[in-house]
Amino acid sequence: MAKQKRGKALKLQKNWRGTCPLCGRPRVKLAWPEKSGRDARMICKACYARAHRP
Ligand SMILES: [Zn+2]
Repeated sequence: MAKQKRGKALKLQKNWRGTCPLCGRPRVKLAWPEKSGRDARMICKACYARAHRP
């Protein structure tokens, strides 16, 4: 499977870079869903790792 969170594949998404709603860091890559579901917000890698690996 191609890498979905790097390079060209990532930049095909809109708003792929922004401010993370959890940690508030600006200009981070928002390529990870907060949780599995339809209304999931996109969060940064650090917050995703914290949420999914306690
Ligand atoms: Zn974050």
